Amino acid sequence: MKCPFCKQDNDRVVDSRVIGEGRSIRRRRKCLSCDKRFTTYERIEAAPRLVVKQDQRREHFNRDKILQGLRFACKKRPISEEQLEAIASRVEAEVFEKYDNEVSTRSVGEHVSEILKDIDQVAYVRFASVYREFTDVEQFGQAIEPLRRSSAGSAEAVLSDQKDEVLG
Ligand SMILES: [Zn+2]
Repeated sequence: MKCPFCKQDNDRVVDSRVIGEGRSIRRRRKCLSCDKRFTTYERIEAAPRLVVKQDQRREHFNRDKILQGLRFACKKRPISEEQLEAIASRVEAEVFEKYDNEVSTRSVGEHVSEILKDIDQVAYVRFASVYREFTDVEQFGQAIEPLRRSSAGSAEAVLSDQKDEVLG
């Protein structure tokens, strides 16, 4: 590695540590020519995952898009921005772990839905309704049926407002 100070290619690694959940390595190096120290980072080259949309167009998987969808679904719900970030990171990790090249928008949506289901039922239905693009009120009704039967009366009230917004 060329020293950024004296430009000589003559250094020794004095410290290495793994960071970013094992995805990169930070190395402290000491230039043997001028004695100055500098830092380098090594990252695993991750091939981008392509998301295949319903019309077959493909685009790079984008964590921010997941976050946008989550923000919409969790609007006015008791879920912090920190939690949303954590969900997005988890989905990103799952996508990179389970798919080598391509993944459908639907599968990505399922991953998000599965996580949301355990966190907030209202957010879950909102999110699922957008991802699955419910074609009629009956399908939507089936998805919210478990909520009606549960004691979450407030959830139902929120959903009846949401229904127009989502389906409209
Ligand atoms: Zn140097």
